[in-house]
Amino acid sequence: MKKIFALLLTCLLCLSAVGCSEKPYQAAWDGFCYTATEHQAVEMKSEDRKYIINLLNEAVWETNIEDCECDFYFSLQRQRVEYHSECGTFNDITNGKSTKVAEDQRLKINTILNLDAAKEKVGTVTDFSKFSNMTRETSKIEVTFDNNTGAPFYFTIEDQENIYEIMNIIFTDTFENMGEEVNDGNHSSIKIIQGERIYDMSLSANKEGKYYYSFSTTDLYDKIIELAREAGAFEGVE
Ligand SMILES: [Zn+2]
Repeated sequence: MKKIFALLLTCLLCLSAVGCSEKPYQAAWDGFCYTATEHQAVEMKSEDRKYIINLLNEAVWETNIEDCECDFYFSLQRQRVEYHSECGTFNDITNGKSTKVAEDQRLKINTILNLDAAKEKVGTVTDFSKFSNMTRETSKIEVTFDNNTGAPFYFTIEDQENIYEIMNIIFTDTFENMGEEVNDGNHSSIKIIQGERIYDMSLSANKEGKYYYSFSTTDLYDKIIELAREAGAFEGVE
């Protein structure tokens, strides 16, 4: 009887030991998270690392690899897991499984990965590297206006009042992140000429790092259209 009891106890201990320690996803000793394209290690607090590993261990996994892009990957003790920040999908490449996190979890992960900081980098015009030295003092503005005829309409703004108004809009407007690609059919742009310095600015979206940013109002575009009309951009155009 004693023997059987001891045997049972051993079995129970075995079972509980297996149950407790064998979480499928565990951090590797070195390195954890990397960018997919440049294989740069992503610095992360240990509590954030725990948060992500916990998510992986508690997730409900589908037995397929989601056909999805990947901008980060996680190197774990036994698996390589890829992550797509735009949709929140994890692909466990090693085991052919996938899971998609809830929206609030995706946002938290993206904050951990510093994606929000990068997204909010451009607030005002001088946050763009190419416009960082720009001032309001402008001698003239050359416009390449897209009037949808296939060939652009060119004109130059030299009137100081109009220039003042345009530069005021450019310096007071804010910018919105449009993502890594823009699908805007309008190709109007302006050359802001300040002595020796010339700044090329798109009226739809300007790029900083990997993202495009558009003006948050249409004020600049409206003003340019008004001047383009005066200059004859729509004459003879349907
Ligand atoms: Zn995706």
